[in-house]
Amino acid sequence: MEKITFLRQLDIPLQINTTVSRHNVDDLPRIAQLMRQLQIFRWSVFFLVPTGRARIQDLLTASEQEAVLHWLVSLQQGVPFEIKTTEAPQYYRIREQQRRVDPTMKMRTRQMPVWDGQGFLFITHTGEVYPSGFLPVSAGNVRTTPLAQIYRESPVFLGLRNPHGFKGKCGYCEFNTICAGSRTRAYTVTGDYLESDPYCPYVPDPEQKDRTSSGL
Ligand code: SF4
Repeated sequence: MEKITFLRQLDIPLQINTTVSRHNVDDLPRIAQLMRQLQIFRWSVFFLVPTGRARIQDLLTASEQEAVLHWLVSLQQGVPFEIKTTEAPQYYRIREQQRRVDPTMKMRTRQMPVWDGQGFLFITHTGEVYPSGFLPVSAGNVRTTPLAQIYRESPVFLGLRNPHGFKGKCGYCEFNTICAGSRTRAYTVTGDYLESDPYCPYVPDPEQKDRTSSGL
């Protein structure tokens, strides 16, 4: 908190990251109040994925996560800082659903969709190229292949940038080009990064599935 005060005195824009889990979900309103007092420019809200020391029982359920995301979309309407989510891209689906009801609502964060392998990559200390730091699926190695070639041509990256090729409901969801589901959570829970995000309660229109499979 002391260092944050120094940054404020120097007029350095501040982003604060918060990882949401079962242990702190009830504290979020108070954390949001603190963000307001600290005059940050962005609050980056990470939703836990069960990798490393994180356990699956530490995650929110799908409906709990959905409730927090609705709260964040509403909160964005009344705070001066930007809100961004990581590993919960359903935020952008909810925001779009609400914008369709109220076209005057504020859309402060990115319009350009970014997810693992789509506008983002991670290079390990040994040169392996992953779609993100949370998704340890190697698409190649920069010691042997130019990075641009890996990003543009590897099957891993091409698959991640084709939401209509995802399995299950994420493949035909009408919001899959702005949401795409958490590819990392799909991978850590199901073992397949192209599977549907198991922590999304949204049920897409089944007719959309028929249209997608018939190429319409
Ligand atoms: S079904 Fe998949 S693409 Fe659609 S909102 Fe849920 S996670 Fe996103």
